[in-house]
Amino acid sequence: MLQQTRTEAVARYYQSFLKAFPTVRHLARAREQEVLRLWAGLGYYARARALHRAAKEILRRRAFPTTAAEWRRLPGVGAYTAAAVASIAFGEDVVALDSNVVRVGLRLLGLQAKASDAWARAAVEAALHKVLPPGLAGDFNQALMDLGATVCLPRSPRCKVCPLQRFCEAYVRGTANRIPVPPPPKDKPFRRFVAALVRDPSGRVLVLQQPPGGLWGCLWTLPYVEASSWQEARLPLFRLVGTHLEQVKSLLRFSHSFTHFTGEFHVVSARCTQPPSAGRFVRPQRPGVALPAPTARLMRALVTEQSTASRGGISSGSTRTNGSWRSRSRTPADPRSPGKGR
Ligand code: SF4
Repeated sequence: MLQQTRTEAVARYYQSFLKAFPTVRHLARAREQEVLRLWAGLGYYARARALHRAAKEILRRRAFPTTAAEWRRLPGVGAYTAAAVASIAFGEDVVALDSNVVRVGLRLLGLQAKASDAWARAAVEAALHKVLPPGLAGDFNQALMDLGATVCLPRSPRCKVCPLQRFCEAYVRGTANRIPVPPPPKDKPFRRFVAALVRDPSGRVLVLQQPPGGLWGCLWTLPYVEASSWQEARLPLFRLVGTHLEQVKSLLRFSHSFTHFTGEFHVVSARCTQPPSAGRFVRPQRPGVALPAPTARLMRALVTEQSTASRGGISSGSTRTNGSWRSRSRTPADPRSPGKGR
């Protein structure tokens, strides 16, 4: 949960996740949708699916792996996680290289290299392995992680209070601020999507389950396709939901930051002439399926809109007129502030 996510953001997810799945057996036996539902909002959903598969694999083997090499064979477990678990939980003498430890190691060795350079990481790992006290790898790794997080900071290393000062090449040469070498700036590509907000006569919203491996894999979202305009989106949306959608009105646009690109979503209120053959209609207040953060925010905005309408304010919802499905949704409260939501 903590990979690429702040501890404060994770805390409440962690609590409810452990409450629902107190043992690996509970997690292994859960439905994938339940796992995703409790993960919804954290992003990087492939991690949740991998964790679920890993729990099943551990249950199948009837034992936890004990070495880093064995941990790496589990779905979703990379070199750092494997070494961290093997050293901290099972006492294996291996070095766990997280980004903090790599930075500390590069500075100790005085290596002018990027943190992602494989040769430099290998040099750091070899050097740290030489000084690792046998039987204490867990403490050693955690001490280096903490040193990187609190003393050997990325921008302003606090060398004056650092216990490793006298072993540090970068300190001696005065190069700590230039190590690691920053990677060249990379522009994230920009992709446009059109999403359709389709509501049935009782105000429920059409959602589709995304295929595994794609964006928001296995989660439920509004029907959406990659397109720059409604005109371009109509045919692929038809293929998705199995019925023609007509635009009622443009509702909102929001940006969402994915790992490798930024997506701009244009949400359009739409009606369909026939009930769709794919997806399901869910109540915005109780969707009952796992939603990614932007879809969940949109649902909350719709609930707010409905309660405003029921107090005698705006007209909202959908009506079936002359046998056809008509949506009269107005723009929900603008969730353009999802910012970097997941
Ligand atoms: S002396 Fe400075 S650069 Fe070297 S490890 Fe300590 S904090 Fe980092």
